[in-house]
Amino acid sequence: MSMNVHITFDYELFFGTYSGSAEKCLLEPTNRLLELGQQHQAYFTFFVDAGYIYQLQQHAHDASCAQTLKKVGSQLTTLLRAGHEIGLHIHPHWEDSFFKNGKWHMNTARYKASDFTKTEIQNIVNKYHAALKTITGKSCNTFRAGGWCIQPFQHIREALIAEHIFTDSSVYHGGYHQFSAHSYDFRKAPDATEWQFDTDECVPAENGRFTELAITPLTLSPVFYWQLYLNMKLNPDFYKPLGDGMWLKDKKKIYRQFYRQTHHFACCDGYFASTLIPAFKTLSKQHKKRMVILGHPKSLAPCSFLYLEKFIQFVKNNNGQLTTMNQGIV
Ligand SMILES: [Zn+2]
Repeated sequence: MSMNVHITFDYELFFGTYSGSAEKCLLEPTNRLLELGQQHQAYFTFFVDAGYIYQLQQHAHDASCAQTLKKVGSQLTTLLRAGHEIGLHIHPHWEDSFFKNGKWHMNTARYKASDFTKTEIQNIVNKYHAALKTITGKSCNTFRAGGWCIQPFQHIREALIAEHIFTDSSVYHGGYHQFSAHSYDFRKAPDATEWQFDTDECVPAENGRFTELAITPLTLSPVFYWQLYLNMKLNPDFYKPLGDGMWLKDKKKIYRQFYRQTHHFACCDGYFASTLIPAFKTLSKQHKKRMVILGHPKSLAPCSFLYLEKFIQFVKNNNGQLTTMNQGIV
């Protein structure tokens, strides 16, 4: 049986103290992905942070924002022309963020959809999606919540219906995170690759209006994180992400990874890309028909491209399909 493999990227800047540049976080790594896709006839899904596009348009009076908007816009249309998919990614904290003196000032106090009223979030989703559509000329079919913060789903449900978006990919089985900015709890999510749902993304509902194409869960051992740490120390040029910004960090979570097994997901960021072939083998043995991988252009390191290329070849040699999400919905 062949497996649908969706390699997905959240196309966004960093949201910590430094947002990083569009060149290093988006344009350069994505151009390398375009080359990789073209070489191997692999198609990816890019969840574009539409709030960023909206704010670039709002700040188009600033020459550097206008120039970035032009470059990013041209990259997005190139992606579509090459057969990749653009999905909708919403980070509502763009509402409170602005560009001044040559840099973005991010305010992540209201990071989750649920930090806004239902009416506000409907308006945000609508205007961010509209901003993205002015560039791509196309509505998005798939959605991923910023920072996985899709809960409570009821809060954003009407907004997605209004945009005719009925496919989500924000959930990974076992995922749990409680932090000042992020919070989500997917411990009750089905251990399945996909399901229909209606009012709660973790509760399958027959004939539900929405489809969840779940991000593939993956348990990582402390050994992985020690290896990652050592690699970064010994060969930073190869293992360090290309993006030049700073993550919104939860230090407690980072330390915990060094001594406890963690619920993670199939990921192609940095050294995480090395876990993809073993994960694919396990899923094949379990006769799973879908694998959803999450990454970020900003977090790809030189090593990631190498691991990704090997992975893509491996999938092809093992009868897998590297498709976009909207192509993979049967
Ligand atoms: Zn994001």
